[in-house]
Amino acid sequence: MSIMDKPDEFTRRLHRDSKMKFVSTRGGESVDLDTALVQGIASDGGLFLPDVLPILSVEALSEESSERGLEKAFLAPFFEGSSIASQLDEIIAETFSFEIPKIKLPVENGRCDLLELFHGPTAAFKDIGAGFLAACLSRIEGDEAQPLTILVATSGDTGGAVAAAFNERPGMRVVVLYPDGMVSDRQAHQLTCWSDNVLSLAVNGTFDDCQAIVKTALADASLSAKHRFSSANSINIGRLLPQAIYYANASIAHWQETGNKPGFVIPTGNLGNAFACFLAREVGLPIGDIVLVTNANRIINDYLGGAEWAPRTSVQTLASAMDVGNPSNMERLRFVGGDAMELAKKVESLSVTDEEITQQIAQNYQDWGIATCPHTATATFAWRKLSDAARMEQDWILVATAHAAKFEQIVEPIIGSTVKLPTELAEILEKPSRVEKIDASMGAFEQVLERRFG
Ligand SMILES: *Cc1c(COP(=O)(O)O)cnc(C)c1O
Repeated sequence: MSIMDKPDEFTRRLHRDSKMKFVSTRGGESVDLDTALVQGIASDGGLFLPDVLPILSVEALSEESSERGLEKAFLAPFFEGSSIASQLDEIIAETFSFEIPKIKLPVENGRCDLLELFHGPTAAFKDIGAGFLAACLSRIEGDEAQPLTILVATSGDTGGAVAAAFNERPGMRVVVLYPDGMVSDRQAHQLTCWSDNVLSLAVNGTFDDCQAIVKTALADASLSAKHRFSSANSINIGRLLPQAIYYANASIAHWQETGNKPGFVIPTGNLGNAFACFLAREVGLPIGDIVLVTNANRIINDYLGGAEWAPRTSVQTLASAMDVGNPSNMERLRFVGGDAMELAKKVESLSVTDEEITQQIAQNYQDWGIATCPHTATATFAWRKLSDAARMEQDWILVATAHAAKFEQIVEPIIGSTVKLPTELAEILEKPSRVEKIDASMGAFEQVLERRFG
């Protein structure tokens, strides 16, 4: 089956009577939530999605007054039949342990808010998905006698969020591999300041070398069995579901306050964050237009504009966490939203250049007194590009994906001022750092693994 054909059973129904199943976007597999979380990717190479989407009622959700009631109401249908369903309260409390403020910007026409997703331990929105996945996986698979070992190759941001999420979790270990000398000083610190269950490896090679080691290790049956290897891949459904929650929370709060459905402008790379917003709208949340903003990597824009889907090598930009040449979650978006022609009616897209990013960082500081990271700057550009009519027609929420202090080498020269370190980042930077340097070879990798975890 092509990924364009949706199975017939992909229809909406209230999901009360049976277990929630997760199907592969390529049609070959249907599993329960626990398996989808542990496996990460379907065995046919596809991505997991719920086989039916629950429909949630805005009225019921907005009347939810218990603590974390909305999060629970949103997630419970997806957890039906899961071995950890009864622990959902704790999982939610652990994941959403920090504020996600929605800040009204002082704009003249219309209403525009900034949704700050960056108040987690490593000051980027990936903390939320990584934290939720860690909370789930440690409950399903954590075994102190025989820990599960999560392997993660990173070019900078993801590894820090994953390490922070699994740090000190009993029965869980993490091995982070990053290219030595090719991440910023602050990023390097975030990858290397964790407890005994996190092994940080600075690899004498490139990001591709790191990824090759991880792939080889995962495919090596005996090594894999010995260390119980697993991955915390960004396409894991466990990283996606909690992201839909901040759109649920923000849209419900906005709807309660104003009676309006806000549109969202989302900095987009691998398309996980924006797909989560799409999913939230599909299950019935009061969300208006969705704008996907990319940097100069414009495969999504070209596809929605009518071109073939043509994965390409990514180009480096100032918004480096969005430098993706083959966004994996397009497969999910197509599965739920249809082909390019259908999708183009459901989402908008815009590509932003490095010059425009630089100009936005300056203008945001000048107009609003805020320092924005290069990723968030793509969203403010998209908002400023809207016509006056589009700005008056609906309220807009711009998604802020990282704290500017993580990208101080770019932001500070542009605004001519230092960016104050947020407390969470300052705490991390004060922790002692511990790293092992290895050559980019399986031999070196196995040796250090044996020494630390053998
Ligand atoms: C990962 C990331 C993005 C892109 O998010 P996707 O879910 O991959 O589209 C945007 N901004 C920051 C700061 C990120 O770390």
